[in-house]
Amino acid sequence: MITKCLMCGGKTVRKKVTTENWWGEKLTFVENVPAFVCDTCGEQYFEPEVCEELDRLRETPPVAKKTIQVPIYNFPKTIVR
Ligand SMILES: [Zn+2]
Repeated sequence: MITKCLMCGGKTVRKKVTTENWWGEKLTFVENVPAFVCDTCGEQYFEPEVCEELDRLRETPPVAKKTIQVPIYNFPKTIVR
């Protein structure tokens, strides 16, 4: 149980979040992941069992709920310093 944010000292609340995970070359999202989220800065914390479950999903992923396409863009060259 993580009640205090390590980044800003703010209070955390229990929430279900969507996590972004890179499984090798593949970007995946897992919905409804139980987390503690900082009320102030939004930093997310996961309990060890939750991380283990995410590792298990990565090792033997079930059939995806849905698949989305994500467009990728290059940042405009004119603005790169
Ligand atoms: Zn915080």
